[in-house]
Amino acid sequence: MENLYDCIVIGGGPAGLSATLLLGRSRRKVAMFDNGTNRNRVTQESHGFLTRDGIKPQEFKNIAIDEVKSYPSVSILDETVIGINKDVQKNLFLVNTSNNKTYITEKILLATGIQEEFPISQIRQYYGKSLFNCPYCDGWELRDTPLALIAENPEHLIHMAKLIFNWSNDLIAFTNGHQLPENIRDSFESKKIRVSTEVIKQLHGENGMLESIELESGEIIKRTGGFVAPSFYRPNKFAEQLNCEVDDIGKMITDGDGRTTVNGIYIAGEAEKAGPSSLILAAADGFRAAASINMDITLERF
Ligand SMILES: Cc1cc2nc3c(=O)[nH]c(=O)nc-3n(C[C@H](O)[C@H](O)[C@H](O)COP(=O)(O)OP(=O)(O)OC[C@H]3O[C@@H](n4cnc5c(N)ncnc54)[C@H](O)[C@@H]3O)c2cc1C
Repeated sequence: MENLYDCIVIGGGPAGLSATLLLGRSRRKVAMFDNGTNRNRVTQESHGFLTRDGIKPQEFKNIAIDEVKSYPSVSILDETVIGINKDVQKNLFLVNTSNNKTYITEKILLATGIQEEFPISQIRQYYGKSLFNCPYCDGWELRDTPLALIAENPEHLIHMAKLIFNWSNDLIAFTNGHQLPENIRDSFESKKIRVSTEVIKQLHGENGMLESIELESGEIIKRTGGFVAPSFYRPNKFAEQLNCEVDDIGKMITDGDGRTTVNGIYIAGEAEKAGPSSLILAAADGFRAAASINMDITLERF
């Protein structure tokens, strides 16, 4: 059957690409689908991936696709997966795409990543240019500059403020109208970190470069960049629809090697944790899940 695959990988970020590379090298017939909605597409440079520090996200992806394409059993498809159904009798999965096509596979790897929801929608204009989420990814570039930390959840705010202070001690924390315990405010103020609990009215800047933050009171505070704590969610419900179990904090339950609680369905990268990670960790997750897929196919067929 032309459209029958050993494995379909949904998502061509570092998790999906790394898995596809390993499966191609393991002589498995693989189709990898990607629709270009990787969340780091908004940023100019990616940092911290050994040998690729500072690379543009699209260049990273292009190099990976070129490597993966050199394996003859791999197909890369620029299509959106819209549904997955199980053919229980044949023990196969049917993958439907937005082009009205159906692909059939023995195994599925979900590597569809996550997306962000921001406390203030205007943050989107600055995200990836002067406002970021991960200090390990972008803290170095923002070192010793006047930074904002925008976080509504006190736990996130405390955790991130302590981290970011290492890159710049010119730091103002904004809770956007949420209260912060008095002892935390005191400990921040002892480090000269101002805490603003006022609602943010507007961000000002040009071409994604932050210049200042305007509070509801009318006060304008100069800041040239910083960090935000968005909430994260999976962009689809494939795992839930297939009855894969999720724990009470939204993390997919796996065996630690990418196998979900449903036979034949694997998960890797940020989709697994429904939380932020990094290129190198997602690539490692993809490698690990692909090794599980290959091992399971091997044992089933040997
Ligand atoms: C602004 C910003 C800056 C960052 N900077 C860095 C950095 O400097 N260093 C670093 O290590 N990390 C950085 N990251 C984090 C990094 O991008 C992620 O950790 C990593 O991309 C996660 O990999 P993933 O494969 O799990 O998901 P993703 O890279 O998000 O890939 C998921 C893929 O799935 C595809 N997809 C989703 N749904 C479907 C569907 N239904 N059909 C077909 N395809 C689908 C998407 O198109 C996407 O390409 C940054 C993130 C952001 C937002």
